Amino acid sequence: MEDGMNLWKQTLDILKKDIDETDFSVLFSEVNEIYKVESNYIYLIVPNALTKFRIEKFYINRLNEILTNLTNSLVKFKFILKDEISFSDDTPLTKKDQPYKRPLKAEYTFSNFETGESNRFAFISAMKVAETPESLYNPLYIFGDVGLGKTHLMMAIGHYILDNKIDTNVVYTSAQEFTEDFFLAVSTKKGKENIEDFYHKYRDADVLLVDDIQFLEGKQSTQEEFFKVFEHLHGLNKQIVITSDRSANELKNMMARLKSRFNWGLSVDIKAPDKPLRVNILKRKLSYLIENPKDVPLEVLDVIADIFPKNARDLEGGLRRYVTYCVSLNYPFTVENVYTALDSLIPQKEDEKHQNTKNFDSVKREVAGYFKVTVADLESSSRKQQVTYARQMAIFLIKELYGPSLKAIGELFGNRDHATVSHSCDKINNLIKTNPLVKGDYDLLMKKINS
Ligand code: ADP
Ligand code: MG
Repeated sequence: MEDGMNLWKQTLDILKKDIDETDFSVLFSEVNEIYKVESNYIYLIVPNALTKFRIEKFYINRLNEILTNLTNSLVKFKFILKDEISFSDDTPLTKKDQPYKRPLKAEYTFSNFETGESNRFAFISAMKVAETPESLYNPLYIFGDVGLGKTHLMMAIGHYILDNKIDTNVVYTSAQEFTEDFFLAVSTKKGKENIEDFYHKYRDADVLLVDDIQFLEGKQSTQEEFFKVFEHLHGLNKQIVITSDRSANELKNMMARLKSRFNWGLSVDIKAPDKPLRVNILKRKLSYLIENPKDVPLEVLDVIADIFPKNARDLEGGLRRYVTYCVSLNYPFTVENVYTALDSLIPQKEDEKHQNTKNFDSVKREVAGYFKVTVADLESSSRKQQVTYARQMAIFLIKELYGPSLKAIGELFGNRDHATVSHSCDKINNLIKTNPLVKGDYDLLMKKINS
């Protein structure tokens, strides 16, 4: 250990001469503890994921080169996170270690986040918040479809804040976890202690990260409680970050007070990644999956990027499957193998279209027959009461059964616009609840179509 420490110090002294002074002290001033020396490796403890990432990305080769020169041996440095030690060791966490254990995924950092048109504004806003929490952007509300990097960005904010100030109380939770915590807190089992734990967890936060807030929809009492937590923290100028699959205004069954709070700060959205961004995300993820990412040709990434246009999560899943397939079967990284490995994940576009057309036609035929009108009537502009009702029912059934876009449905019915389609769906939906005759028609038709 002693020797290890000496070698580390000597190495740093040499490195120090070649690199920028600020960089040096930011990265290395806190790396001064050896975890263990084992089979040619000197393991050094690094305080956080960002530091580890930077050292490994930019300095590890240089450091080991210096070490080799010093020792003339195979000994190398390795860097290990405090968190990783507490996981790998059997010894329980001591009080002292606890601040190092982050409730955040280690790789969800800003430096691991690729940017493009679709997420740049969200990224910049997140960086601003991380640099100056308690800024005007409170809360920061990040929204967008699943798999676009909301959780990643939110956790990156947490990492960044902790990297700057290790004892900040960053609390990450999902709306689901918040709900569970709240129910536990008010359950009578442990009585008062529960609610105190709950208050302690949420109200003592310096930074509160709440993922997937849409989960609070329709949960009145949890919303009330979240509102109190929000007011409390906001009043103390504590940073709050929220993610959602929708804009605040689009949340349903959510207290108006809360929705308006969500709009107080800054609201940013993330959209689907364009092609260059998808390729960059793949390159990034590849570097975690295999040692020599260069072994995988760019055209492979290009093909994978085309197969999964919607989001980063699918991209990552596809890539992982491809790499695992090739590596475990010892196949080369070819484009052809993309198709074999991902066969079952690739949407059968033409087949699917064909099947859909068949399904839609059969709904139209059933509905027309049932109401004694023709399919042509349904597609026409006729406003006869019977035809209109039949048409609305057919539209509603197709939407319910197959869920195509409003626009696509409009095209099936003489190019009606999406507002008309949406109106039809709402209308039938309401009538089913209020009018037993309509409910009867709906039930019978459903039965026929499904048989
Ligand atoms: P969301 O919370 O929006 O559903 P996540 O944050 O869980 O999405 O992201 C899904 C996966 O895609 C994660 O592994 C994340 O690291 C990755 N990812 C998303 N966007 C990016 C990006 N811009 N750069 C790198 N990885 C990304
Ligand atoms: Mg998420």
